[in-house]
Amino acid sequence: MKMIVVPCFIGVLTLCLCSCSRVQTRKSSAFDSDPYESSAGISSSFAWPEGKRAAVSLTFDDARPSQLDVGMPVLEGYGVKVTFYVSTPNVEKRLADWRGVVAAGHEIGNHSMRHPCTGNFPWSRQKALEDYTLAQMGAELDEANAEIERLLNVRAATFAYPCGQKFVGRGKDVRSYVPVVASRFLAGRGWRDEGANDPAFCDLAQLMTMELDGLSFEQLKTLVDQAAENGFWLVLCGHDIGAGGRQTVTVDTLRAFCEYARDPKNGLWVDTVANISRYVVEQRAAGHQNRVSAR
Ligand SMILES: [Zn+2]
Repeated sequence: MKMIVVPCFIGVLTLCLCSCSRVQTRKSSAFDSDPYESSAGISSSFAWPEGKRAAVSLTFDDARPSQLDVGMPVLEGYGVKVTFYVSTPNVEKRLADWRGVVAAGHEIGNHSMRHPCTGNFPWSRQKALEDYTLAQMGAELDEANAEIERLLNVRAATFAYPCGQKFVGRGKDVRSYVPVVASRFLAGRGWRDEGANDPAFCDLAQLMTMELDGLSFEQLKTLVDQAAENGFWLVLCGHDIGAGGRQTVTVDTLRAFCEYARDPKNGLWVDTVANISRYVVEQRAAGHQNRVSAR
């Protein structure tokens, strides 16, 4: 079955219940309702489904092997659905396993082709954002989408900024590439931000994201509980999954979070970035409609 995951808005919302992770919608180059349009983009009231107190998205970058070997058994054991922002050469090395990830209902997102970051990182000097143009970035994101579609038969609905950096060029010629992302994706995920997202206000093209690597469960619980107090959406990003070490989400923390999340009294909705983004768009559109009819 060809799985097509594209942004779906007002016209197709009947097809797009928030809990569905495999949504069949038509392909469209134009959004039915623009999630970035200001009047529809901000809601005065916002409620998570089924009385949930907060939403949490777990995301993992670069298609690292430990995500398959260590992470997937844990996530599948708890039925937790996450978003993987993949490096396509890594997907190609374990193609059957990544197809299994898709079949299990996880989201596959775009993470560019070359992983360009600032050239201050020596490994990124030959693909430095300082030397990029907006056109080049747009072409690269399209290429990554095509590659993901070729390998996994899915259309990436969301994007994660490599290194969380959102610019191209330098000095007076610096440009934000957020609009390049906003014109192609339902949402853009950041990295190492300092908080969670207010679903009534946030810009989906620049989702605030907290680091999950290296956190103890107690540290993670503090972030989750803060999000629940505010009714916010906490987006977390990790890399490897294992016993510990550099850029690694510990298995103990992941397990403890899954246990915590499945206890209904904690009021958490844990789902992919695409599914929660769709719900946010739907709620804002409904709130906007209510305000218009109340005039
Ligand atoms: Zn990355």
